[in-house]
Amino acid sequence: MELEYPTETIDKIAGHIEEIVRLLGEDPSREGLLKTPQRAAKALYYATQGYRYSEEETVGDALFTAPSSDPVIVKDIEFYSFCEHHILPFFGKVSVGYIPDKKIIGLSKVARIVNLFARRLQTQERFTRQVCDAVATAVGAKGVIVVCNGQHMCMKMRGVEKQESSTTTIATSGDLDTGMRREFMEALKYQ
Ligand SMILES: [Zn+2]
Repeated sequence: MELEYPTETIDKIAGHIEEIVRLLGEDPSREGLLKTPQRAAKALYYATQGYRYSEEETVGDALFTAPSSDPVIVKDIEFYSFCEHHILPFFGKVSVGYIPDKKIIGLSKVARIVNLFARRLQTQERFTRQVCDAVATAVGAKGVIVVCNGQHMCMKMRGVEKQESSTTTIATSGDLDTGMRREFMEALKYQ
């Protein structure tokens, strides 16, 4: 899935960025900033590419027969997203656990699902839920748990300026009894 940059869209975004640079008090014709609008437009377009792929094409046919219904945990997948309130980055790690029902999903596909939903304007809560639902839909698992820990630049660079804070969100789906949930949380070392 190679991302293409449509010229017309990138030019339009770049035009707006040039204006933002000007409104912020900079001179967009200054040498160091000459190519910035184009570069920034492409960076934004890249970092929001989740809008341009579907869940179906992301998962594809990477489903395999489960050897058993033992839990599967994919831990500490890094993600980079934008908070939808400030369009500032938030990033961190997300771990996905599930109890297979006949099918397991290719491990790299779990990471692709994470990218699909991270690369948008997001809230961490919705992101965690979407990853959970997408994994549940893809594998038809008996139970899914997703634990996400994120650091929000909008809390560090502005507002309350809490540099050390992080946010943990948890989403579950299906049949996860208390024992299984505890087992996952222990394996994930989030208690
Ligand atoms: Zn924010």
